[in-house]
Amino acid sequence: MKIIGPFAQILTLANLPLKGKLKDEQLEIITDGGILIENDIILAVDNFQELIQKFPTAEVEKIETEQVLLPGFIDSHTHICFGGNRAKDFAMRLNGKTYLEIAESGGGIWSTVQQTRAKTADDLKDITLKNVEKLIRKGTTTAEVKSGYALSIDGELKMLEGINLANQECEIDLIPTFLGAHMKAKDFNGTNKEYLEQLVSEVFPKIKADKLANRIDIFVEQSAFSVEEGDYYLNEAKKQGFQITIHADQFTSGGSELAIKYNALSADHLEFSGEKEVAYLAQSDVVATVLPGASIGLGMQYAPARQLLDAGCCVSIASDWNPGSAPMGDLLTQASILATFQKLSSAEVLAAITYRAAKALDLSDRGILTKDMKADFISFPTSNFQNIIYHQGQLEPENVWKNGNLIHSK
Ligand SMILES: [Zn+2]
Repeated sequence: MKIIGPFAQILTLANLPLKGKLKDEQLEIITDGGILIENDIILAVDNFQELIQKFPTAEVEKIETEQVLLPGFIDSHTHICFGGNRAKDFAMRLNGKTYLEIAESGGGIWSTVQQTRAKTADDLKDITLKNVEKLIRKGTTTAEVKSGYALSIDGELKMLEGINLANQECEIDLIPTFLGAHMKAKDFNGTNKEYLEQLVSEVFPKIKADKLANRIDIFVEQSAFSVEEGDYYLNEAKKQGFQITIHADQFTSGGSELAIKYNALSADHLEFSGEKEVAYLAQSDVVATVLPGASIGLGMQYAPARQLLDAGCCVSIASDWNPGSAPMGDLLTQASILATFQKLSSAEVLAAITYRAAKALDLSDRGILTKDMKADFISFPTSNFQNIIYHQGQLEPENVWKNGNLIHSK
């Protein structure tokens, strides 16, 4: 047993509703707090001195400066496994070039596909691990990682293999998701439907057999797959027992309805969700995951996070870190910026990157600091939690603990 503390404040994120708006006054804050853990599990969160008195034999990890402790961040939507770099695309976009012009000059997603295909599973593992280092520095202790940049049977399986290898080697948890349906491969000789049929008949069984992923994602959009095509694909995924998440309503609406129909864990993006979509999502158990990093990267409108919360949705915020539209890869900065545009409270932002993000990944053992939860937590060098969002990502974690182990210290 080990007691870590004292912390000026511990934000437990406990006893808060899963859905709907939150006020900062609802946050449970333990001042001069300590946390008692055994191995990778939390046994108690309480006043530091009281814990010392109650558990006199426990080892003590003393915190010498003023720090605020909260659950480790959970990034429920990333594409951090990829080959190459798209800085040239970004520069072209800044010069007013369109998606089509960028693609025609050899950029766009297809350039990432070619560079990803050229990598081995080991290369992809190394690239993912490099990106994970940054996630850890910024306080993320669980991250979802998608395939979707090889768009061939072997290539997609290789990506999942790389992600799984990275998960075995790194200190945080990586949750793999199969996104072979990111778009139809340019060199696939057939229709969208035929491409999806091939994924269903040839890739799904291999993913199952080799336990490469439990989650299936699809990009439902005019430039990728239609609602009808998505309907076919998700029905097959559901039949084979996969969990579902969808890239929905990014440029046009439609995907979120599918998410509700298939009881997806989450509908992600939602920049173009209107009143109708917001109302439907609020009535469902689908987590509404918003991705401000894509809005910042593309210079487009944010998802209506305020409306989603007011309507009663469970809103998660994720980084969408990817080489094309969201290269920043800094969840806290993006969430803090979204907060200013959408008028989100600190409580709403912190919930969206902890326990509400855990719900998007169907993980019930993390995101809250209470008894029996995983000992995944991070501390910031401040005495007041409000400084975390206020500094818009520039106040970085002082310490990061994963499974009870200190894995990063500034
Ligand atoms: Zn994405």
